[in-house]
Amino acid sequence: MRIRITDIRRSISLLVVLSLVLTLTGRVTVMPAWAVTQAEIDGLKEEAADLDSQRAQLQQQLKAIQSDKSKALEQKSLLERQISATQAEIDNIQSQIQKYKELIAQKQEELAQAEEQERQQHELFCQRVRYMEEEGEVSYWSILFSSKDFADLLDNFTMVEEIIDYDNSIMESILALQQQIAADKEALETAKSEQEAAKAKQERARADLKEQEAQVDALIEEISGQEDQLEAAEAQLRAAADAADAEIRRLEKEMAAQISTVVSESGFQWPLSSNWSTLSSLYGSRKDPFTGKPGNHTGIDVPASKNTEIYAAKSGVVTTSVYGSGSSWSYGNYVVISHSDGTSTLYAHMNKRAVAKGETVTQGQVIGYVGTTGRSTGNHLHFEIRVNGSRVDPVDYFPDRTLYYRSGGKSVLLEH
Ligand SMILES: [Zn+2]
Repeated sequence: MRIRITDIRRSISLLVVLSLVLTLTGRVTVMPAWAVTQAEIDGLKEEAADLDSQRAQLQQQLKAIQSDKSKALEQKSLLERQISATQAEIDNIQSQIQKYKELIAQKQEELAQAEEQERQQHELFCQRVRYMEEEGEVSYWSILFSSKDFADLLDNFTMVEEIIDYDNSIMESILALQQQIAADKEALETAKSEQEAAKAKQERARADLKEQEAQVDALIEEISGQEDQLEAAEAQLRAAADAADAEIRRLEKEMAAQISTVVSESGFQWPLSSNWSTLSSLYGSRKDPFTGKPGNHTGIDVPASKNTEIYAAKSGVVTTSVYGSGSSWSYGNYVVISHSDGTSTLYAHMNKRAVAKGETVTQGQVIGYVGTTGRSTGNHLHFEIRVNGSRVDPVDYFPDRTLYYRSGGKSVLLEH
């Protein structure tokens, strides 16, 4: 067998170049900019744990008054706060599931990349073995023994070193890639099983939500039959509105700079779609068209089906978005928007709020959904308008709108 050193030299330079190219491009795993981090998922999990303990706390309070019929409204409120926490938890888990989805896609891509690199390295290694076979058994030793003189020996020695280094680097690279593939596969499996666990947890939360909603419905049924409870509810709603007056003034001062940047439209937009134009309760100073008596109400009530969209009546800044606490819990989930012309609008008893405090909203934007949270026994929007902090009759601000009033089964066109 003949050793053709020149051929080997040529091949070696080719292999060395190839190995350099592979080293430069092969092992670098670039993390994309949208990469999901474990910290993000951990943050969401912490938030979910908070919500969990909130729910447990509310459950304890609920247990303490569950047998007391006179506390039906308080029970309803506690249940609604549980519902809020459960809904927030469901949303949170949804984000977790989405993050896991991105993580899984990311791991799949990394795994595919590593597998492709491993395939390329393996292919290169096979080429090298084939080359050696075609050339006959060219051993490192035979190259050294073919040296003509000492200078040639040194040359050949360097060359053999390069061959050995190169062979080793391919092997190392293949091993490293195989380890990476195993690690990627494991990470992928973990992400998949954690996503499954999150889905199961969400299912349980959904079942809880259904049960809590059924309990609220049962309580509404119970309360509607109790006149004294209804009267108490009216009085407590007035207390809530009085507390809101002061709170709105305070927040408007605090957020004045931001509020002044949002230009107010000259008129108000009706906060519901036109299907919902019949009022079930009028503002206090307005006389009931049927009885002629003025009421005591702090705003207007517009019945609408559950989860009907509620629109911002005017562009402005959200100064409040909470499930009311203290005396304002009568409002349930409510939102206040302050407008730069000195007016503010309040939307109460929402099933769900769609904006947060500090958000700038435009006229007509969806800010929440109709519900019956707080001191309320049926799905409706309770709507208030304030001018420089004082409540006014909202009906007066919709001069071009056809509005009806319904009471005791009778309906009438509202003069305004
Ligand atoms: Zn009302």
